[in-house]
Amino acid sequence: MGLHDFEVPRRVMAIAAHPDDIDFGASGTMALLAAKGAHITYCVATSGQKGTHDPRMTSRRLARIREDEQRAAGRVVGAREFVFLRYQDGETEAHDMKLRGDVCRAIREAKPDAVFCPDPWREYQTHPDHRNLGWAGLDGVIAARDHLFFPEQLIKGLTHHRVHHVYMWGTNDPNTWFDITGTLETKVRAILSHTSQIPRPDEMRARMNNFARFATRWGFARSEAFRYLELA
Ligand SMILES: [Zn+2]
Repeated sequence: MGLHDFEVPRRVMAIAAHPDDIDFGASGTMALLAAKGAHITYCVATSGQKGTHDPRMTSRRLARIREDEQRAAGRVVGAREFVFLRYQDGETEAHDMKLRGDVCRAIREAKPDAVFCPDPWREYQTHPDHRNLGWAGLDGVIAARDHLFFPEQLIKGLTHHRVHHVYMWGTNDPNTWFDITGTLETKVRAILSHTSQIPRPDEMRARMNNFARFATRWGFARSEAFRYLELA
């Protein structure tokens, strides 16, 4: 399945643990879909408040910096909206009903046709937030679908919403590849927007190029790989 035999989703939401996860995992695809007219929303659960080695940095200041970096990176690829749930970095929980409810609400508000999130089934995934946001993304998709989940959200015109397509990045078992040959440079620029997190920006282009080359299938020169689930 390439974009030729693939219906471009009108609305897309990417759900992630930290500012920069979407950029590493899926921003080449986000740029591709934005260029085809998709409306893209980023939903980021934590603000990466622990992502520093600078002893003088406070987590509050870092959160502001990293949210700004995420907005800048999103603008590079053409994402239009940003939702920050402001959970504490490193402290999300796998089956936290509050997190699930917040993700559910974000989905009901943005009404995406396709959701992108981390693959929670990836073996040996060490970062708890990456595992947990995989679960929160998928569980949020299911909750958003049915009106008796979080019924207190369904006021002031907010309605339940069914997502039909889920793509998981960071997977060991991909079944779908997007051709990012034309958007790899945009992806690198998006990643480099996270200046607080990239100590050696000069190495990033080669790293991402190699990654996209080794991840590829279907005859594409450069790809991002996903596990795709179609939901009825
Ligand atoms: Zn992360």
